[in-house]
Amino acid sequence: AKQNYVRSKPHLNIGTMGHVDHGKTTLTAAITKVLSDRGGATYVPFARIDRTPEEAARGITINISHVEYETASRHYAHVDMPGHADYVKNMITGAAQLDGAILVVSAVDGIMPQTREHALLARRVGVEHLVVALNKADGADPELADLVELELRELLAEHGYHDVPMVRVSGLRALEGDPEWVASVEALLRAVDDHIPVPVRYVDAPFVMPVENVLTVTGRGTVVTGAIERGSVTVGDTVQVVGLGDGFTAVVTGVETFGKTMERGEAGDNAALLLRGVRRDQVRRGQVLAAPGSQTAHRRFAATIYLLTQEEGGRSTPITSGYRPQFYLRTTGVPGRVALGDDEMALPGETVEVTVELGKPVALEAGLGFAIREGGLTVGAGTVKAVLG
Ligand code: GDP
Ligand code: MG
Repeated sequence: AKQNYVRSKPHLNIGTMGHVDHGKTTLTAAITKVLSDRGGATYVPFARIDRTPEEAARGITINISHVEYETASRHYAHVDMPGHADYVKNMITGAAQLDGAILVVSAVDGIMPQTREHALLARRVGVEHLVVALNKADGADPELADLVELELRELLAEHGYHDVPMVRVSGLRALEGDPEWVASVEALLRAVDDHIPVPVRYVDAPFVMPVENVLTVTGRGTVVTGAIERGSVTVGDTVQVVGLGDGFTAVVTGVETFGKTMERGEAGDNAALLLRGVRRDQVRRGQVLAAPGSQTAHRRFAATIYLLTQEEGGRSTPITSGYRPQFYLRTTGVPGRVALGDDEMALPGETVEVTVELGKPVALEAGLGFAIREGGLTVGAGTVKAVLG
């Protein structure tokens, strides 16, 4: 029989961010190792976290790795992503709903382009709290590390992050069990516990969970995974599948998190829901599961969008009415067409009011954030102001 998940501590979603090779995956493995020695985690080795994007056996695309662990005061789900493109995609779509993040910066190399980009992304997607892991401190000259810290404070302040704790760590040495560096990872976790507050969860709102992955579990049926955005779900509840086609309803026959059964999944939880009588091909990433009648799919909406400057990785040229990028809403990307208002064009760096017509209907509501991408680049970010039809 499966273990039960006991909700004895607040649950938070965090993750590692930062430039490639600065040690995000190593640190993630080290955290589980250090905590497993205290009974707060199951050790997840590097190779299990840093999987190839295509996990062929399950036939699904995994571009996010979740590990779970607990400190004395909290339960954490932690995401680590293999490549820079995965950060951009998962962060801006909200697939990684982060309550806070650990920005990993190599004390040897200092701030690199993806360090800058992730700090910017974190701010744009509303990650309010950061803790810096100044990694590879085992090999860094302390004075150089001081300098890196100074530059980081400046960079983070530019994005509105103040009083960010910075902890010198060595993920690699901690993983090897070196006591000094094990202690550094413990200090990092204390900083995360102290600095990243438990967010307000809308547990009493109608249930909604964006579909991240759909898989078949032999003998049990179709399982849909995702992070519960609002509300709660229990076995026996009816949920509606909304978006990308005709909606339908299904009964939830199982709720799990990290392989443990739950009585009730709540806003903020990473859940796997077993749906009765549903075929795998009936549910897709990009749809949402919702309390029946609470969410509707739409193609047209009014929005405020911000166009990234070229420095921020955006376009070098303006957009005009008829512009057709991809819109990343929650877990999906859909093509759409932008109509500008009175102004004929909008320049990178500008914030403008637009109307958008999507190629496919998706669950939409005022306040929903989205990203705009073209040719694999993030060129803008926006918020739905009103649904138009
Ligand atoms: P990621 O791309 O940010 O996930 O980085 P990885 O975790 O894959 O690490 C990149 C490289 O840096 C690997 O060769 C690691 O062994 C090495 N590395 C990671 N952490 C440390 C550390 O704390 N000290 C040292 N010396 N090397 C590290
Ligand atoms: Mg990695």
